[in-house]
Amino acid sequence: RAKSNGRGQYSFYDAQTDESLQSRRAMIRDLRDALKTDGLSLNFQPLFDADGTTLTGYEALARWTHPRHGAVSPMVFIPLAEEAGLIEELGAWVLNRACLEAVTWPATVDLSVNLSAAQFRGDLVGTVKGCLATSGLPASRLHLEITESLLINNTDAVLRTLHGLTGLGVRIAMDDFGTGYSSLAYLWRFPFDKLKIDRAFTQNLEQDPKVDLIVKSIISLAHSMGIRVNAEGVETPQQLARLQSHGCDELQGYLLGRPSAANLLDHAHARHDAQPPVAPRAT
Ligand code: C2E
Ligand code: MG
Ligand code: MG
Ligand code: MG
Repeated sequence: RAKSNGRGQYSFYDAQTDESLQSRRAMIRDLRDALKTDGLSLNFQPLFDADGTTLTGYEALARWTHPRHGAVSPMVFIPLAEEAGLIEELGAWVLNRACLEAVTWPATVDLSVNLSAAQFRGDLVGTVKGCLATSGLPASRLHLEITESLLINNTDAVLRTLHGLTGLGVRIAMDDFGTGYSSLAYLWRFPFDKLKIDRAFTQNLEQDPKVDLIVKSIISLAHSMGIRVNAEGVETPQQLARLQSHGCDELQGYLLGRPSAANLLDHAHARHDAQPPVAPRAT
């Protein structure tokens, strides 16, 4: 009885595995097609100054609408691309597309692009350099977001690449800060310009006084090291107010702006001090 039960479970499990493996293979095939046929797109989510109204930049977010399954989350297709060896190609496509878009924005508006750890295995510095050259986007306007997972196996090669990137003049941001481990150790080992506090913290700011204290401390620590702080996932005016009172430098979330297609972006609240006039001095 136990045996047949076990066998039944086993074969059921097996069939499921087989099915998900097959659908996985099919999805990888479709993703490969999408890459070849311009089937991916980008959305851009606005980032705001501490005042919550001045536009500082946009984060590019990859989108895939599957011909039959509809919208597939990047949380699904990015890992799929990594597994299938497509992430270098996908990552380069995102960088290129996003840079070409960003040059059409006001000069005070920056671009943030997410990087997968797997992209560090290829010639990332060369790819980024190429995208800047092709688009004409000034390096200082490009922020590359990496996650702590990249730094877990922090090899010399990763460090060299990070320094190669900062050498180009681009900025490095630590994304989803606080969700990985050994977070604090990385702060002094890598040349970060910005730290993005994960949405999980923002969401628990109001309910949990400890979270509020942690966020306040992270901001103060980052500032003491000359690192700017972004808070992700701002959804309520209360969260916004807490983050502002803690001195957070940049804010992002559905309360302030949702990701949207490039042609729908509204730059009306960009800063206007991009090119200070070179007026002759009176004296
Ligand atoms: P992320 O880099 O942390 O991006 C922020 C995610 O939070 C985005 O989800 C965004 O739509 C969502 N978000 C923004 N504000 C709010 C809010 O107020 N509330 C809530 N609930 N969510 C908010 P999305 O676009 O689904 O992307 C998920 C993740 O996929 C990204 O997290 C990033 O890790 C990855 N990803 C997206 N595009 C790319 C890409 O081009 N390359 C790589 N390597 N990863 C990407
Ligand atoms: Mg990000
Ligand atoms: Mg993030
Ligand atoms: Mg996140």
